[in-house]
Amino acid sequence: ATPMSIMVASGKGASLGVLFKSAEAIQTLRDVDTLVVDKTGTLTEGRPRLQDVVVAEGFDESEVLRLAATLERGSEHPLAAAIVAGAEARGIEPGRYEDFDSVTGQGVRGRVQGRDVALGNRALMDSLGVELGALAERAEALRGEGKTAMFLAVDGRAAGLVAVADPIKETTPAAIRALHEEGIRIVMLTGDSATTARAVAGKLGIDEVMAEVQPDQKAQKIKELQAQGRFVAMAGDGINDAPALAQAQVGIAMGTGTDVAMESAGVTLVKGDLTGIVRAIRLSRAAMRNIR
Ligand code: ADP
Ligand code: MG
Repeated sequence: ATPMSIMVASGKGASLGVLFKSAEAIQTLRDVDTLVVDKTGTLTEGRPRLQDVVVAEGFDESEVLRLAATLERGSEHPLAAAIVAGAEARGIEPGRYEDFDSVTGQGVRGRVQGRDVALGNRALMDSLGVELGALAERAEALRGEGKTAMFLAVDGRAAGLVAVADPIKETTPAAIRALHEEGIRIVMLTGDSATTARAVAGKLGIDEVMAEVQPDQKAQKIKELQAQGRFVAMAGDGINDAPALAQAQVGIAMGTGTDVAMESAGVTLVKGDLTGIVRAIRLSRAAMRNIR
């Protein structure tokens, strides 16, 4: 039989937007000592904004922005939306691409007005053999401010870079303090660069960072933490997160995300921020205290 306190926690949870899939999920959550969270969309708004445009010799700012925004019309990544909106806000109308491909965890590439265009991180540029020159240092300085820098290559040459910043959610700092009070270590997982990730983590007092993680490596990262004897909860929202949510002792799906994530998780939060995780952990611990 389900103990009364589990039923009470479950009912309270529902009224607070914390949906437990089972009694087991409530029980397991009590023992969590490590919470793994995505940077983008969980700690941050997930709605980055264009901040900087840097151009290489022989290119001008409006050309760089127009090519970048044209290509990003093909992408559904939040970074793409930031670049398209940022270009439009600067009076630049994105055009049409002739060809488009997205490279998961790296960026986008295609053809615009007969030119080969690619936009993305260092790994993408390396794979295309693009020399970054002085742009590499400019990008590193921007990352040190917590921004995400993306390089634009045109016909194999570095043409410039764009940098975006994703504001930290208003509720994040207090939620991190509350999780620390519960004795939980927080690990930030991101596909973003190590420098950007460390800058954001530093501002927030996050304990550990796993950066430049490809979406299909997330479950492996959870396994590594478990191999250290850690008892892990993982919060995520994407289709890509499902294997990691299933690997963790407790998967926490953000209700603003996909159905696939919710199916793989023991806990679903109606609102996709850390506050819900704090509530879920407190409910679980209160319920389990009553049982002992
Ligand atoms: P996250 O979910 O943490 O933002 P991703 O794995 O989605 O990480 O992306 C990793 C990196 O790949 C980004 O930081 C960016 O540099 C690059 N990237 C991914 N998608 C795009 C895109 N549509 N346009 C430009 N760069 C991109
Ligand atoms: Mg992502």
